[in-house]
Amino acid sequence: MGFSTDAIHAGQIPDPTTGAVIMPLYLTSTYEQEELGKNKGFEYGRTHNLTRAALEKNIAALEKGKYGIAFSSGLAAIQALMSLVKSGDHLVVSNNVYGGTYRLFETIMTNYGIEFSWVDTSNLTNIENAVKKNTKIVYIETPTNPMLNLTDIKGTVDICKKNNLLSIVDNTFMSPYFQNPLSLGADIVVHSSTKYLNGHSDLIGGIVVTSNENVYERLKYIQNAAGAIPSPFDCWLTLRSTKTLAVRMKQHNENAIRIADFLVNNSPAVKVYYPGLKTHPQHELAKRQMSGFGGMISVDFGDIELAKKVLKQTKIFSLAESLGGVESLISHPASMTHAAVPKEERGKMRLTDSLVRLSVGIEDVEDLIADIENAWK
Ligand SMILES: *Cc1c(COP(=O)(O)O)cnc(C)c1O
Repeated sequence: MGFSTDAIHAGQIPDPTTGAVIMPLYLTSTYEQEELGKNKGFEYGRTHNLTRAALEKNIAALEKGKYGIAFSSGLAAIQALMSLVKSGDHLVVSNNVYGGTYRLFETIMTNYGIEFSWVDTSNLTNIENAVKKNTKIVYIETPTNPMLNLTDIKGTVDICKKNNLLSIVDNTFMSPYFQNPLSLGADIVVHSSTKYLNGHSDLIGGIVVTSNENVYERLKYIQNAAGAIPSPFDCWLTLRSTKTLAVRMKQHNENAIRIADFLVNNSPAVKVYYPGLKTHPQHELAKRQMSGFGGMISVDFGDIELAKKVLKQTKIFSLAESLGGVESLISHPASMTHAAVPKEERGKMRLTDSLVRLSVGIEDVEDLIADIENAWK
């Protein structure tokens, strides 16, 4: 089936009792059992919930995977993935991952004897050189936030296969509409469904997709045993949202391409970071492993006062963290999402104080362009 057909139908059969075309919201913590040892396959809400199961099947289909396992947040999903390793194991991780992922790995998981090597995975040789005897997983995020650097997924998978390692890709920025890491050979995909999957900025959620039976069995066990499940209502909202994922992503992409071009040609910006620009150093890789360029743009205004002015004056772009919603957001990575990264490290990756990040929404692009233009004027 095509992407949109799956998005609207996968995992969702009309309700057998009433024929309701929309997946019912099962708000129940427990299920009546017919007699001792006999039930309908449902015992307790943490373990079984049909609304959640529908969401898991739906997103698994969109990521071209066999199994989905939903969690209460992106970070809960990532923490569950850490249960795949044990004390003494080592991971190779993209040095520019989501800040919360860095915090989880470096300040919590290290207490359990798990080791991490942080490398620039946009150069595959760095991954190869970081692999040790006790390495179990290579964990990448592509494109990265906020510099929009790419990692070659297929190249990473090849290194993992050769060394018998699991490959994990955080696919939050592209969504399954523009990038399918499992189709490129990756073992596991993880999403913060808070972002594009839900796309309406009204919930926090996470999901893992895999076709690896052993990984699935383990994560399903962890989902129940550790218990970081999403609420049925959040699952229901996300299911409603994925129905429009294709149309939303097309519009995010179209608007972002227009805005990136505008910023390059008609603005005082000194540098625009967007994988869709021919000037992006990895534009060819972007075209190869993604089917679109997404809605995230970073723009360096070269001057902190000008950046501040833009951040303060935009009316449609709201100054806020997060991304991937239908509404446009603007943020200042150096003081917001990446404040915890030392200034020297930020400098190395060209994350300057005059860098502004845009999450381009699906409003009328003319209005968005006028909003940015008015802001610096
Ligand atoms: C937001 C985000 C996360 C964390 O997800 P939460 O839902 O906020 O817990 C992980 N990875 C990426 C790329 C993100 O943008």
